[in-house]
Amino acid sequence: KANNTLKEIAEILMASRSVLLFTHINMDGDTLGSSVALCIALRKLGKQAHILIEDDVAAFLRFLDKGYCTYDNHIIENPDICLCIDCGDVDRFRERKEKFFEGKQKGCIDHHVTTEPFADFNFIDPTASATGEIIYELLKELPVEVDKDIASAIFAAITTDTGNFQYSNTTKRTHLIAAELWDYGVDYNEISVELYQNNRLEKLLLQTKILEQITVFAGGEAAICGVTQEMLEETEGRMEETEGMVETLRDISGIELAIFVKEVSREKCKVSMRSKKYINVAEISQKLNGGGHARAAGCTVMKSYEDTKQEMMRLAEEYLKG
Ligand code: 5GP
Ligand code: MN
Ligand code: MN
Repeated sequence: KANNTLKEIAEILMASRSVLLFTHINMDGDTLGSSVALCIALRKLGKQAHILIEDDVAAFLRFLDKGYCTYDNHIIENPDICLCIDCGDVDRFRERKEKFFEGKQKGCIDHHVTTEPFADFNFIDPTASATGEIIYELLKELPVEVDKDIASAIFAAITTDTGNFQYSNTTKRTHLIAAELWDYGVDYNEISVELYQNNRLEKLLLQTKILEQITVFAGGEAAICGVTQEMLEETEGRMEETEGMVETLRDISGIELAIFVKEVSREKCKVSMRSKKYINVAEISQKLNGGGHARAAGCTVMKSYEDTKQEMMRLAEEYLKG
């Protein structure tokens, strides 16, 4: 399968009556912001549109959802279109996988390098900093007026996926889109306060605990740490409040590779990896059936917390040598 044009996708959407949007699990600002923006636009076009989710909306993202998200698989029966947003792997739908295939037509809009076109129609652009960039360009092909809520959701998608315009995925196009969003009334500061200046004290206590156990290895090139269920209990912190820790590790001077391990259960961990300049972490994560981008990738490991850490350190050292 190959990519479609955004014009073709706009035509497919216009010919439909009902669209169900699918976010990936461990929802982030991009998958949710992009879905919210498109959902508002589709409703303005008179379509029945909902975002089907299965995990909690993280507290810092809750301001984006004004009744677009639902856990109800029956919200639309046999949707005309099921659309995968910011993800190219239906395994990241878990409980919603069957529902996705119920769509009369299935589509995928994504920017991960590891995504291959798999749906009936696809638009995968790894040069986009965020799926939000693609959605913005798709909206230009639709007979809909962008409003402040749509623009704000797109801004949230872009700022979160670019580390607030810091990461190597940030381009001139990213800034140009952000600048255009200003004209729709987006308040950059208001959204940044919602996203970044809104932390609970328990989050800081949890992060302090995590930072106490950083291990630097591979001759100082790599760093690893993580969070266990016990640490969450002790601090009353939440798993979602470890978001950003892997970036903190990466930001240590001299560190190229940062690894963060989340203990999901006794025999299951979620791993996040980040690199700074030259390591392709998507390659490392693909060895464990994960995926992502060159500078940000992840995977799931069916091992205990300690074993996962050992395994990741071994893989990282092997990769750095090779
Ligand atoms: P994070 O570490 O923030 O969870 O994810 C970083 C990047 O890697 C994201 O772009 C995400 O889509 C990708 N990623 C994380 N975990 C997985 C996974 O288990 N499978 C795949 N295919 N991609 C993942
Ligand atoms: Mn994402
Ligand atoms: Mn994204």
